[in-house]
Amino acid sequence: MKDLKELKRNELINEFKNAGFPSYRGEQVFNWLYKNGVSVTEEMKNIPKDLREYIDENYKITDLQEKNKNISKDGTVKYLWELEDNENIEGVYIPFPESGRHSACISTQVGCGLGCSFCATGIDGLKRNLSAGEIVDQVLKIQQDISGDNFLEPRLSNVVFMGMGEPLANFDNLMQAVDIINADNGLNIGMRKMTISTAGLVPEINKLAETNDQIGLAVSLHAPNDRLRNKLMPINKKYNINQLLTAVINYIEKTGRRVTFEYVLRDSLDDSPELAVQLADLLRGINCHVNLIPANPVPELNIKRPVQKVIDSFYSTLDNNGIQVTLRKEMGSEIDAACGQLKRKQR
Ligand code: SAH
Ligand code: SF4
Repeated sequence: MKDLKELKRNELINEFKNAGFPSYRGEQVFNWLYKNGVSVTEEMKNIPKDLREYIDENYKITDLQEKNKNISKDGTVKYLWELEDNENIEGVYIPFPESGRHSACISTQVGCGLGCSFCATGIDGLKRNLSAGEIVDQVLKIQQDISGDNFLEPRLSNVVFMGMGEPLANFDNLMQAVDIINADNGLNIGMRKMTISTAGLVPEINKLAETNDQIGLAVSLHAPNDRLRNKLMPINKKYNINQLLTAVINYIEKTGRRVTFEYVLRDSLDDSPELAVQLADLLRGINCHVNLIPANPVPELNIKRPVQKVIDSFYSTLDNNGIQVTLRKEMGSEIDAACGQLKRKQR
């Protein structure tokens, strides 16, 4: 059965038109889904009974079930949802009161097949890809949760694909979802307000560059040389740093957008001043910025956060070497609002 939440607006209109309903009916249904946050046909008040029955018989409408929700003191909210097949995924809402941004961090797969040595999501491997509808519905669920009586107030302004899974390993569903989230008569979140985080799938980065969708790209680099990156991220044995940077430079040239490199700092693993200098040398001249992320501890993997002095010194070394660098503000750390950790604690 097709899922209404995996259809673009024009696809949805055409489906109903082909079944003999006028086009404005499709528009109305689209509005119920994306302007009112409705997921069941009974609540689609202006839709006649015959169309509601037609939908119920021929389509499903993904409706993630909230299993758990944790609210942090800084306003960050972490959600755990159950899918139709009882698998769980998570998403995070992050408010930025200073800038007025409201950001949703969402998942693209159940688990992940890339097995990075520091990541809780990868421990059990990949279960399956999320459908476009399951990706879209995470945004809808967060939007619904942050808004009061009026579904789109306040409005989510940003979406980052940095939850569970490797977004570019689920390319087609991801791009379909991006299109739906972007639709200007729906959630209307601009392409430039969305960011895909990837561990470095080179062919897909090139494919993304071709679409020139203006979507933000964040690359999980995490090490400045192949020897270390091979150890931390098995994907590096398939696409090494040189190949990855070539694809990133191509992305920058095609889209004109500055790329973010993510670098997780783990105690005694990748946090030395020598590595900071190597990183600066590697990235010099590339239109990018580095986002330093102090590691979220993963006890099973023996991952620890470095002490603040080491973090500060890594930051200054990059800064002094002319690299634009930011330190990720730790949001929601007391609720483990990152990287597969809530899900693991549930079991
Ligand atoms: N698979 C994609 C997106 C999901 S992971 C990717 O790897 O980029 C999102 C981010 O969380 C990545 O930068 C990832 O490296 C980071 N991450 C994974 N485990 C972490 C941990 N223990 N502490 C901090 N960040 C972590
Ligand atoms: Fe997968 Fe990203 Fe975790 Fe690596 S860091 S295992 S790519 S989710």
